[in-house]
Amino acid sequence: MNDIRTNLDERLNLIETRLLEMTELVAERVGLVTSAMLEGDVDAADALVAGDDDIDLLSMQVEEGCIDTLVREQPVASDLRFVVAALHMNSDVERSGDLVTNIAKAVGRLQGAHPDDRVRDLVVRMSVQAQLLMRRGAEAFRSRDAELAESIDELDDVLDDLHYRYIQHVITDARRGDLDPQQSLQLALVGRFYERIGDHAENIGERVRYIVDGWMPEAQAAERARARASGVEPDRPTRGLAVIDSIAQERRVDAIRRDFVANVSHELKTPVGAMSLLAETLAGDQDASDRSRLTDMLQKEAKRVENIIDDLLELTRLEEAADARSDVRVDEVVERAVEAVQAFADTHGVAVAVVGLPTDEVIRGERRQLVRAVANLLDNGVRYSDAGQTITVSVEPIEDGVAVTVKDEGVGIPRAELERVFERFYRVDRARSRETGGTGLGLAIVRHVAQNHGGRVLVESKPGEGSSFTMQLPRSGGES
Ligand code: ADP
Repeated sequence: MNDIRTNLDERLNLIETRLLEMTELVAERVGLVTSAMLEGDVDAADALVAGDDDIDLLSMQVEEGCIDTLVREQPVASDLRFVVAALHMNSDVERSGDLVTNIAKAVGRLQGAHPDDRVRDLVVRMSVQAQLLMRRGAEAFRSRDAELAESIDELDDVLDDLHYRYIQHVITDARRGDLDPQQSLQLALVGRFYERIGDHAENIGERVRYIVDGWMPEAQAAERARARASGVEPDRPTRGLAVIDSIAQERRVDAIRRDFVANVSHELKTPVGAMSLLAETLAGDQDASDRSRLTDMLQKEAKRVENIIDDLLELTRLEEAADARSDVRVDEVVERAVEAVQAFADTHGVAVAVVGLPTDEVIRGERRQLVRAVANLLDNGVRYSDAGQTITVSVEPIEDGVAVTVKDEGVGIPRAELERVFERFYRVDRARSRETGGTGLGLAIVRHVAQNHGGRVLVESKPGEGSSFTMQLPRSGGES
C-alpha cells in the first residue's frame, strides 16, 4: 500500500477513534448528570458543566481531521462518504454533550424541588435509554452495521414514550401544587433534553447507514422532487421507495414538531424570565407594599405559564383524540361555555347574549372538547372587546348540521390576518394578547376541535367593528 493511502487510513482511523471516544464520554456524562440531578448535587453538576470543554476539544479534533482529509489527502468516494458522515455525527455528538450541560445547569435551578418517586423513576429510565441510544450509535458506527443503526429508531420510540409519560407526571405534580411553576418548567425542560439526545442518536444511526450503503433520505427525496418538477412521473413506487416516502413524511412531522417546540420555548421564556427577575427583586425588598405588588405580578406571570401549559396539554390531547364519543346536546355545550366565561366577562363589563336557544340539535362528539372550543371563542370575544360591548352567541341549523356563532363588537381583525389567526402562537396584537392573558393557542384549539368533529371554523371580521367566528358541525346521525 502506498504512502498516501496509509496517511489517509491513519487520518480516518483517528477521526473514528475520536468520535467513538466522544460518544462514550457523552454517554457516561448522561449517567453522571442524572445522578447529580437526583441527588441535587450542584458541585457535581458544576463539574459537568466545566467538563464540556473536553467534548468540545474532541469535537474540534474531529472537525480538523475531517477538513485536513478533504484538503490534503486524496479520498475516494467511500472515504468521502465517511468524512461527510463524520462531520455530521460530530455535530450530533457535540450537541448531545451540550444537552447534558443544559441538564447540569438545571440542577442548580431545581434546588429545593422534590419530584415524586414516579418522576424520579422516569428520569432514571430516560437517562438509561439515552445512554443506550448513544452507545448503540457508537456500536453501529464501529461495526459499520446498518441493521444495528436502524434499530436505533425503535430505541428512540421507547425514549419518546418515557418522555411523554414523564411530562404528564410533571404536570400532574405541578397541578397538585407539589412543585412551583419554575421548578416544573425546569423539570419539563430536563425531560426534553433527554429526549433530544435520543434524536441526535437517531441522526447518528442515519449517518452510519449512509456510510454503509449510501442511504440518504434527503437526497433521494430531492431527486424525486426534481423528477416531478420536470414532468417525469416516477414509476410506481417500489417497496423501497414507499419506505423512504414514509420516512420523508416522518421527517416533515419531525420538523413541524421541532418548530413547534422552539415556539413553545420562546413563549415560555418571557414569563419565566420575568418570574425569576421578580422573585429576585422580591427577595431583596423589605417594603411591605412593594412586596405585595411584586407578588401580584409574580402570580400573574405564573398564571401565564399555567395557561400555556394547559392549552398545550389540551392540544396534545386533541391530537391524540380517540376519546369516547356520545350524543351531545348543542344547547348544553353553549350553556356550559357561557357559564365558564361569565365571571370573566362580568369583570370586563362585557355582556354575553344567547340567541336561538332552546334547540333540539345534537352532535356526535366529545362534550368537553366542544365546550372548550365555544368557551375559547367567547373568551376571545371578551378579551378583544371594550367594556359596555356585547358578545352574542347563537345557534342555527344549517344544511346537514348546526352552526354555533360567536360575534363581538370589539377591535376586529385586519383582512390580511384572518387566515393566520388559527395558527399556533399567531397574534395580531401581541401586546393586547399578553395583557389579557392570551396564549396564542385558543383558536388553534377551536380549529382542532371542529376538525375532530368533521366540521370547520369560519371567521368574518372588520377592524373597528367586530368579529364573528362560526363553528359548523355535522349533526349526529349524519355520519357513521
Ligand atoms: P390569544 O390567546 O392570543 O387570543 P388565539 O389563538 O385565541 O390566541 O387568537 C389568535 C389571535 O387572533 C389573537 O392574538 C388576536 O390577535 C386574534 N383574535 C382572536 N379572536 C379575536 C376576536 N374576537 N377579536 C379580535 N381579534 C381576535
